[in-house]
Amino acid sequence: MLKEFRQQYTSTNEQFVLTDKTGLVLESEQTLFHIKKGSSIFEFHLFFESLVPLLEGIADEETSFHCIHIEHDGQLYIVDILAVVKKAGLLLIIKNLTDHYNAYQNVTQTRNESVIKTELTVLKNLELQERERFKNRFIQNFSHELRNPLTSIMGITELLGDTKMSDNQQKMLDFLKESNTNLRLMLEDTLSIGMIDAGKLEIKQKLFGLQRLFELIQFTYNAKAKSKALNFDCSWDVKIPEFVEGDRLRLFQVVTNLLDNAIKYTEKGTVSFSVQLNQKRANTASIRFRVTDTGLGISKENQEVIFESFYRSDGSEKTKGTGLGLTITKRLLELMGSKIRLKSELDKGSEFYFDMVFKYPLLSSLETKSLHTDQESSITSNGKEQRKFKILLVDDDAYVQTTLFKMLLNTNRFKIDLAYDGAMVFQEVVSNNYDLILMDVNLPNLNGIQITKLIKDFPFNNIKNIPIIGITANAYQENIDQCLKAGMRKVLIKPFEKEELLQTLYKVLL
Ligand code: ADP
Repeated sequence: MLKEFRQQYTSTNEQFVLTDKTGLVLESEQTLFHIKKGSSIFEFHLFFESLVPLLEGIADEETSFHCIHIEHDGQLYIVDILAVVKKAGLLLIIKNLTDHYNAYQNVTQTRNESVIKTELTVLKNLELQERERFKNRFIQNFSHELRNPLTSIMGITELLGDTKMSDNQQKMLDFLKESNTNLRLMLEDTLSIGMIDAGKLEIKQKLFGLQRLFELIQFTYNAKAKSKALNFDCSWDVKIPEFVEGDRLRLFQVVTNLLDNAIKYTEKGTVSFSVQLNQKRANTASIRFRVTDTGLGISKENQEVIFESFYRSDGSEKTKGTGLGLTITKRLLELMGSKIRLKSELDKGSEFYFDMVFKYPLLSSLETKSLHTDQESSITSNGKEQRKFKILLVDDDAYVQTTLFKMLLNTNRFKIDLAYDGAMVFQEVVSNNYDLILMDVNLPNLNGIQITKLIKDFPFNNIKNIPIIGITANAYQENIDQCLKAGMRKVLIKPFEKEELLQTLYKVLL
């Protein structure tokens, strides 16, 4: 039975041919090809000419040939040929492997195609990354070059503000100042991206008051939402640890970027910020931060691209921005081991959220707070230890800021932090213990008088009682009275000497 099957199979797939030493066919099966007895095998197909040298070989020597393409009767055969030297000439055993070779070719082709596809994707990603890197490097260098002229423009704008002006001129000057501030904020954003790209942005792991941060956010965004007639819901889980280890400034930057967008892209309804505890383990807590709005929403196709730098989907003049906020948010979160997620529907609103794992100390909150008190000191000439005063210097003019900073630092009596607008002031006062705030009255967005009033309204004594000294270029009594009424202890009129500054500070501090 098997013999029968074997015969059936081999008879259609194999052919034995015997030739003499000149290539004439002595005998041939007719299973695959019609090869006539007495004909020349070289005429049947050119391939067989390559067998001539074999005819000189010794008896029973075998040579194999693979994947030979032979066209016969309009059909393509792919065969393997075994040539065996015999006394009479050559025995040729031809095996039909057409199906096998075709299948093999298909597999190889599919594999090659998939390899090429993968390589193309890798190349495309590399190209995208390279494009993004080039764009950022270019913008970063460019923005760096813009810094100097911008500093001059800001200085001259400030000087102009000190001259007498008509109402119309004053309006133009205010516009100029607002544009300067926007331009400076854009530069700050591009520099942040550049720093992240260059791997220079370090994430700090320091103990900070998480709940205090939420209170600050609540406080700041209540006011921002109100100014656009929106509701602001702010809630956090009471089980969230009061103090955690992490980078407070970067977390704040992420949340405020999301909240600023939520307010910017919402015309009516509610913006909310909620913080929820996912789980607590040993000394780590996983926390979900969520910012939602009832605004414009983002289409499905735009949901991916809005995280690319300089992408602005609406492109309208109505909403100003650099298209960098979400890129910075995404990159900062990646640096902090988290990932931004988004659910959004056009015309319904958006929800941005991310999870972050914090370590938290197993200390009582009292002990933790004591970690925050500033113990830094300096040694006086008579060897007595003297505590350094911690001061927050608020000025949006980089030139003035540097001059004041140097004046104070040279005395070695002060430890100085810098801020240039209201949001930064609130951020700093909530997480530091300052002995004094030195505040320029003329600031972008909220001015120094408004910030002073807000600080004096704070619910915590250690914040609302920080003495504030104002700095102003406006010497009119009416302006000075306004400053004092808002809660400033003293007001310094520009320009002033170093001595006057120090005397005023010591009067308040000592
Ligand atoms: P910017 O706001 O400066 O344009 P972002 O990177 O913060 O830059 O945002 C990129 C784009 O994503 C915005 O131009 C806007 O079209 C869209 N977008 C961001 N947040 C929201 C939101 N909450 N609702 C609707 N669209 C948003």
